[in-house]
Amino acid sequence: MTARQVFQSWGRVIREPHEVLPVTSRHLPLNLPADASTTMLPFGNGRSYGDSNLNPGGALLQGRQLDRFISFDAATGVLRAEAGVLLADIIKLALPQGWFLPVTPGTQFVTLGGAVANDVHGKNHHVAGSFGNHVRGFELLRSDGSRRLCSPTENPDWFAATVGGLGLTGLITWVEIQLRRVANPYLDAESIKFSSLEEFFELSVESELDYEYTVSWIDCAFTGKRLGRGLFNRGNHAPVVMDPTHVSKKLPSGVGQGTLTVPFTPPISLINTLSLKSFNTLYYTKQRPKVVRGLTHYRPFFYPLDALLEWNRIYGPKGFYQYQCAIPPEQALPATHELLQTIAASGMGSFLAVLKQFGAPASLGMLSFPTPGVTLALDFPNHGPRLMALMAQLDRIVLKAGGRLYPAKDGRISAEMFKAGYPRWAEFKNYVDPRFSSGQWRRVMEG
Ligand SMILES: Cc1cc2nc3c(=O)[nH]c(=O)nc-3n(C[C@H](O)[C@H](O)[C@H](O)COP(=O)(O)OP(=O)(O)OC[C@H]3O[C@@H](n4cnc5c(N)ncnc54)[C@H](O)[C@@H]3O)c2cc1C
Repeated sequence: MTARQVFQSWGRVIREPHEVLPVTSRHLPLNLPADASTTMLPFGNGRSYGDSNLNPGGALLQGRQLDRFISFDAATGVLRAEAGVLLADIIKLALPQGWFLPVTPGTQFVTLGGAVANDVHGKNHHVAGSFGNHVRGFELLRSDGSRRLCSPTENPDWFAATVGGLGLTGLITWVEIQLRRVANPYLDAESIKFSSLEEFFELSVESELDYEYTVSWIDCAFTGKRLGRGLFNRGNHAPVVMDPTHVSKKLPSGVGQGTLTVPFTPPISLINTLSLKSFNTLYYTKQRPKVVRGLTHYRPFFYPLDALLEWNRIYGPKGFYQYQCAIPPEQALPATHELLQTIAASGMGSFLAVLKQFGAPASLGMLSFPTPGVTLALDFPNHGPRLMALMAQLDRIVLKAGGRLYPAKDGRISAEMFKAGYPRWAEFKNYVDPRFSSGQWRRVMEG
């Protein structure tokens, strides 16, 4: 008999037992569920928020044991590793040798397989595109035992289906990526206060040419004059010669690294309107000058949330949702304004609202989320039906603006919303492994 275990994703809303199928070696065929009607889905490190990485009623292929490096060329920065290797482990290996990830999401605790399957993006999308743009190749193992080498030139259709393919096309056993050169672990970074969305868009345009990384924190707790205020962060990898007196302890993103843990789930959410408004005001006013500049370590720059392990517990037992949308350039300003207005008026928003301009580099996946325009991401404590009504309102704004939602962050969108945002869904369907499925996939295909 196979083991069953309760799995939950990062938002902690859905907690369901799954049949567990461990993947112990990349050389072995898949361990199939005993019942031929049971579907399966690869599971990485569980950092997706909703139900794209869950398969309630089915099985999960637990891929974290595929954690070996296969090859690394320190002269060229080409790295091949098994799909369960964490981005954190790649940094540990490569940084001392002068290499860094070409694209990184806001946590280093994701697997290579997960990074490919969601075609994750980072603060450098406007210059580097998304993760898939730096993948040289991978192996895809299907439930019928077949193996395909996929790259932009070999089986390119399978490559395009699997990059951003939500784990539905088969199990990725290993991935080869091109790293980028760095001189040291520091970034030359700047934090600029802005007081309106218009100013945010001006700063974005101004920063695109000279800064590899840009991202903003935006205050969505207030309406009126304070709506759209925030902090614009931008930076570049520091050059070989650094002035150590520039090392700043004052940059607002400057939190330490992954040593504190939320030790238990509090009985109620610690996030409420009062704590939210106080936090936002404190965070915004903590930076007194308009611009703060300094050298900052890569960890607080890229991974401020990793400083507090299991921070997702602070939302209490009901968990939380994240809402992340992308809006095309022509609608970016009015739609973002309407979204923030609606969120602030609801009083349900979170302190974590992130705004970033996606750039021109085209993502390679059929279902890749990044597209030119602006992306807004925020967390919402799970207020049940009240929150569902608000998110349905936000969906209408996004739909009207021709935008889309990020499947990695989603646990609720309708089939209509998904299909409108991802017009290549019907083409993609041809590549889905007949024995693979997910809670999200059933919802958006059958709903
Ligand atoms: C704090 C935080 C910050 C984040 N910031 C960002 C960000 O800035 N940008 C961004 O894009 N995302 C971001 N994310 C989301 C996260 O990067 C993605 O959800 C990522 O895909 C999670 O990877 P994982 O290894 O945890 O995989 P899981 O969440 O377990 O799975 C993700 C998907 O990958 C598939 N998968 C996993 N392994 C394999 C495999 N071997 N073969 C085939 N498919 C596989 C799964 O089936 C699933 O569909 C963030 C998440 C957190 C918690």
